[in-house]
Amino acid sequence: MGALIETVMGDITKVTDVEAIVNAANNSLLGGGGVDGAIHHAAGPELLKECAGLHGCKTGQAKLTGAYRLPCKYVIHTVGPIWHGGDSGEPEDLRNAYHNSLQVASDHGIRRIAFPSISTGVYHYPLEKAARIAVKTVKEFCEANPGQFDVVRFVLFNERTLKAYEDVLSA
Ligand code: ADP
Repeated sequence: MGALIETVMGDITKVTDVEAIVNAANNSLLGGGGVDGAIHHAAGPELLKECAGLHGCKTGQAKLTGAYRLPCKYVIHTVGPIWHGGDSGEPEDLRNAYHNSLQVASDHGIRRIAFPSISTGVYHYPLEKAARIAVKTVKEFCEANPGQFDVVRFVLFNERTLKAYEDVLSA
């Protein structure tokens, strides 16, 4: 059966029924604001310690750690692009962030994964454009790797973000 690609409004740190959540981190992997801050806060200081040993992460790449006090098993840290107008490789970088997160998950046999809306907070990627890339990349990965995922869930923090992803998924 194909993966269930779904959307829900909520706080990704509270998701209890996936093996991995994805963190929209920054290049240092040493914590920040937004979803990154919330994930580190909920996971506890051991997460920062493990991240410090990873020596950062390039934009578009993804790295896996434990989840410590979070209810899932792993955190996959990826770095989306900062929006500079769209002609600086932002679409490809955002695609890579989703694709490489799914690849790392699949390498670890993860079957249930949750994503936040990467780059659409302080990195200012336009929401509708980002939602299209997110959904397209997940669909293409699931089609190319049938049977790999049971659930890919977008956990979206507010109504506007939820609606943008729902609109793309139902188009
Ligand atoms: P970026 O730097 O990649 O833009 P942000 O954390 O600033 O990352 O924002 C990415 C998205 O994550 C935004 O839609 C923001 O509202 C959302 N967000 C913030 N906190 C949480 C959370 N606890 N769970 C899910 N999404 C969150």
